[in-house]
Amino acid sequence: MAGVILGVESTAHTLSLGFVGEDGTLFSSESALFKPEEGGIHPREAADHHSIKAPELISRLLSREDFNQDDVVAVSFSQGPGLGPCLRIGASVARSLSSVWDVPLIGVNHCVAHIEIGRNQTGCEDPVLLYASGGNTQVIARAGDKYRVIGETLDIGIGNMLDKFARQHDIPFPGGPVIEKLSSDWKNRGLDTNENLINLPYGVHGTDLAFSGLLTSAISHSRELPLDQVCYSLQEHSFSSCIEVAERAMAHTGKRELLLGGGVACNARLREMSRIMCEERGGEAFWPEKQYCIDNGTMIAELGRKELQSGRITKLSDSAIDPSMRTDSSIITWN
Ligand code: AMP
Ligand code: MG
Repeated sequence: MAGVILGVESTAHTLSLGFVGEDGTLFSSESALFKPEEGGIHPREAADHHSIKAPELISRLLSREDFNQDDVVAVSFSQGPGLGPCLRIGASVARSLSSVWDVPLIGVNHCVAHIEIGRNQTGCEDPVLLYASGGNTQVIARAGDKYRVIGETLDIGIGNMLDKFARQHDIPFPGGPVIEKLSSDWKNRGLDTNENLINLPYGVHGTDLAFSGLLTSAISHSRELPLDQVCYSLQEHSFSSCIEVAERAMAHTGKRELLLGGGVACNARLREMSRIMCEERGGEAFWPEKQYCIDNGTMIAELGRKELQSGRITKLSDSAIDPSMRTDSSIITWN
């Protein structure tokens, strides 16, 4: 087989190793998800999890029939943004592998990787990305040689908001899929969902978003109203606000493709809303398979591939992690 690029992801709860062929063929990742016993993700505990799991993931990768370490031509890793202690583990794994295999190291931007894996998988060309994940909620579009952040959350990420709501009801991390299930239970009850939609705060400020007021209000309603009804209303409000901002970004930029990325993009209702909005304005909505919506090493490998083919590699002395790396700090040289 021709060469492959290995990608290492470790920005938050997931440590993941994945790879792509030099021609852009994607291969599934080997991943380990840190699930806190209680509370949210403590960065150091997540980092400990990653360092314990790293050898096992590497062995799993090496034992795969579709992977041969002699084929690796470069190792890329998430250099930021993310939780510092977690990023450091992934960076160490990547530095070690690149040194053992004597191949270039490439530090990449995690948010940009969500765009590039989505473009690779769906064939969309110049999308507005709605990046809806645990820690991030951004609407991003390319202008010239950068992916620009057109709007973003001013407080917490949408997934983080869903997880916090779930935690109040003893639903373990990740809460998003359970909230999705409860929402469809409510819908399937056959009641008039519009009439029974609880009025919650709606946090759109131009092209920016906010979710903490919505979270507080939903928690307070859930003390009196059925949980599935609150979950339904929570999804409708938070997803509508994302779709509104995404639509505004499409209108401002004149782009007609919407791409979803991030763990929350696994949600069928968010996908449906995206599809409807795009159809109404003569555009088209895209989303990658679930395994490539959540954080994964393959997307880091895919961005590494594009950087490598543009001639950019990272010197060891420049490979320090950057927890607050911005989406628009990366220069995009490819089409
Ligand atoms: P990420 O940070 O991109 O890896 O995604 C993790 C986040 O996605 C967590 O906050 C999850 O609760 C959320 N998530 C995963 N699946 C779903 C889903 N089906 N609906 C809503 N949120 C989800
Ligand atoms: Mg992510």
